[in-house]
Amino acid sequence: YRAKDQKSGIAVFEAAMNQQAQLRLQLATDLRLALEAPHTQLELHYQPQVRLEDGQVVGAEALVRWRHPHLGLVPPGQFIPVAESTGLIVPLGIWVLNEACRQAADWAAHGHSGLRVAVNVSALQFARPDFVDTVSATLHATGLPADQLEVELTESAVMQDVHGAVERMERLRALGVSVAVDDFGTGYSSLSYLQRLPLNVLKIDRAFVQGLEVNTTSRSVVQAILGLAQHLNLNCVAEGVETPEEREALRAIGCRYAQGFHFARPLPAPALLELLSRTGHLL
Ligand code: C2E
Ligand code: MG
Ligand code: MG
Ligand code: MG
Repeated sequence: YRAKDQKSGIAVFEAAMNQQAQLRLQLATDLRLALEAPHTQLELHYQPQVRLEDGQVVGAEALVRWRHPHLGLVPPGQFIPVAESTGLIVPLGIWVLNEACRQAADWAAHGHSGLRVAVNVSALQFARPDFVDTVSATLHATGLPADQLEVELTESAVMQDVHGAVERMERLRALGVSVAVDDFGTGYSSLSYLQRLPLNVLKIDRAFVQGLEVNTTSRSVVQAILGLAQHLNLNCVAEGVETPEEREALRAIGCRYAQGFHFARPLPAPALLELLSRTGHLL
């Protein structure tokens, strides 16, 4: 851009927009390439999920990471939206599902049995008519028992087409797979739908967990979600627990499960295995 363009605010704004659009285009092109040999650039990290009663690790959430050859580590918040807008989320999601199930089966092979893996599934991936068949085929191919897989959906993925979502969730449940709603409390789902959904887990968003031992509003929201979950016979997992105070406050008000930096950051598979061996599954 020439100097005279820079004088106009609009030109600067357009240049910035253009730059962002170009980055997204670049990411889309590079992600398409990366997906041709996923293991060379993509990997999953795993964040332990803990039972608050005794600190026992009960499973881990798989979180995708992209090591871009020039840009370095690109966070999922940046490339998942690109993957969604280009449809690349479908092959990406299939790779993530397969990799997570393969790894979870491998934990058992290393003597860490019974751990559940939670996999994030985007709305577009969940909406595909063959989604449940893909899950079923993946469990078969990897040998992971169905009750050790949990699918995490966002409220919007469910609300886009409640009827279809209920049907697909019922089929997942029939396989033995558990279904969680991620980031609960931040979306727009109507509470009246919640009782119609064949769910297992509500994941309480980090926004309500942060500082809940001092913030009475946050604590009230968490207590309301716990009450709701109890009536609907659902488990709750608190997300983003960063301090011992948050952990203790959650335990005290009856939240049974949690994850967050306080327990462990998301870890590469070998580091997770190391942590499990070192701690005897107690965090
Ligand atoms: P999410 O599923 O709600 O995952 C939780 C996010 O919070 C992760 O960010 C995790 O690293 C971060 N986190 C965990 N504990 C703490 C904590 O104590 N404090 C703070 N500040 N953050 C914590 P990450 O890995 O950057 O992922 C961001 C989002 O990207 C995820 O939110 C999920 O919506 C999406 N995502 C990640 N992996 C996948 C994937 O494989 N497929 C799909 N469709 N989406 C994914
Ligand atoms: Mg999640
Ligand atoms: Mg979440
Ligand atoms: Mg989130």
